[in-house]
Amino acid sequence: METKFYQQLTEKALSHPACFDEELCRKILQDKEIDVLSLVHAAYQLRKQFFGREVMVHVINNVQNGFCPEDCHYCAQAKTSKANIEEYPLKPDHEILAEAKRAYESGAYRYCMVFAGRGPSEKRVEKLAQLIQKIKQEFPIEICISAGLLDAPKAKILKEAGLDRLNHNLNTSEDHYPNICTTHTYQDRMNTLAAAKQAGLQLCSGVIVGMGESVGDLLDVAFSLAKMNVESIPVNFLVPIEGSALQNESEMTPEFCLRVLCLFRFLSPRAEIRVAAGRELRLRELEVLALYPANSLFLEGYLNTRGAKTSATLRMIQDAGFSVKSNCDLSELLKPEVKKPGQQGTRSNLKSLDELRPYLFTPQ
Ligand code: SF4
Repeated sequence: METKFYQQLTEKALSHPACFDEELCRKILQDKEIDVLSLVHAAYQLRKQFFGREVMVHVINNVQNGFCPEDCHYCAQAKTSKANIEEYPLKPDHEILAEAKRAYESGAYRYCMVFAGRGPSEKRVEKLAQLIQKIKQEFPIEICISAGLLDAPKAKILKEAGLDRLNHNLNTSEDHYPNICTTHTYQDRMNTLAAAKQAGLQLCSGVIVGMGESVGDLLDVAFSLAKMNVESIPVNFLVPIEGSALQNESEMTPEFCLRVLCLFRFLSPRAEIRVAAGRELRLRELEVLALYPANSLFLEGYLNTRGAKTSATLRMIQDAGFSVKSNCDLSELLKPEVKKPGQQGTRSNLKSLDELRPYLFTPQ
């Protein structure tokens, strides 16, 4: 593929988005002639134009775990899941506030609270509104919640309480949706997004790649999100959880994951593209390259699964020459991690005898 092809991707994304038809998008995802580094560079030109070299860091808080009547097949909290999770009802306010403080002090730009369940009752919406007000009074942090299905009056109450953004992922295409959930529909999800938009909330809606969908399904959902102009698109790569319906590993190379992130950047050049769950598992050694198409990530893991250590993620951002969008300075955030000479990881990082001569100590 010639250099011009990649340059044109950047130009077309800005001035002729209709050029990204199914044929071109399939090429981006599947063509062996594509040079992925050139593709990443082309996507980076867009990321740089709209977000510079800043990374938006999000911390997700699982404020209630389990007890969900829905059956989303990818989820450890689904009623059908046999995953060995620690279930608990809604955390008390003081715990949620303490976690918001910690997120803020770790450099998080946005604090995301996730509630299991089909959708909140009116009483629960009032409770959420109070919680949002309390957090906003104490910390200058953006708030996003993921609370299941919502109608317009409930979305309005949350907006008036100070909620910035609502997360509600489409996850996959309309056609594939019945294969990943039977207790609610794709249309239910679209209705919630419409209600949130009507209330003036920013929309966060993304995908989970690797749930047995075809490339066509992936393109369908990418086109739908682009058409809705959602402000934020979390791109998750399935983390199979033992006991959940989608517990079996699906094949996805790190190179393919990068292509997916680039595709979302080309289709939604101004959106906050988040490399979300599965970042560590799926991108492996190529993880840092995700910062070029994506401008956002999660710290401290995901809903029910662990991620990289906070310090490792922040260091990756710093090592690649990016900064965090935060009131805190990245080098300040990393200060407690700076090791003194003599500590493991700096000068004394010398191999011991059993590492140098492992067979010396092995009984024959
Ligand atoms: S994704 Fe949400 S609605 Fe679906 S099973 Fe999990 S907690 Fe319930």
